[in-house]
Amino acid sequence: MKKKGLVILSGGQDSTTVALFARSECKELHGITYDYGQKHKTEINSAKRIAKFLKFKTHVIIKIPNILKSTSPLINKKKKLEKYDSYNEIIKGIEPTFIPSRNILFLTIASNQAVLIECKTIYMGVCEEDYGGYPDCRRIFIDSMENSLGLGISGSKKYIKIKTPLMKLTKMESIKIAIKKCKNMEEFNKIFKETHTCYDGIKGGCGKCHACMLRDRGFKEAGINDPIWILRK
Ligand SMILES: [Zn+2]
Repeated sequence: MKKKGLVILSGGQDSTTVALFARSECKELHGITYDYGQKHKTEINSAKRIAKFLKFKTHVIIKIPNILKSTSPLINKKKKLEKYDSYNEIIKGIEPTFIPSRNILFLTIASNQAVLIECKTIYMGVCEEDYGGYPDCRRIFIDSMENSLGLGISGSKKYIKIKTPLMKLTKMESIKIAIKKCKNMEEFNKIFKETHTCYDGIKGGCGKCHACMLRDRGFKEAGINDPIWILRK
């Protein structure tokens, strides 16, 4: 069993699933969450509760407001969030919510934190299957960051490992694995009721944004009721 794992925890479904992976592989869990000027703070509160539930040894909230500039409605108040009535309407290509360089910055800061706590493994919930529109969610980018961060920190490409266990999984597959990684359904429901995915910051999800669409479809395909649905108005 690896000693330490640092989880990039947004408070969403994917990063929480990755935290469950880390729990099954590491003796000691650490978390890092970014407050990067996103319009809603719901997911930061979710991250805090999940870190507590999973008994993270440390959990830091890094404030980076007003550094990332983008047309993404996640951080730009003038841009309206795209809402969809069905999954098929989702635009192919780069999703409007994409924030250039965000994952580069997140991994850079996480690597600094990893050195501080003497941890060599970073866990991140990126996935190329569902997020084809996000170039910084692909393994080719993660490999390149792993090499660059390692070279920049220690002179060796192999210094830091960035684990992305969801990379090739569909949402449905990742939900099924999250259930397997939990002690029982009761624990799964407890943890996932705390997760927040909606880009609009609506508790229980709006059901119409890109993130809600993907999450809802995954749960429906898995034949599982999403515990956040009872919170939905
Ligand atoms: Zn939503």
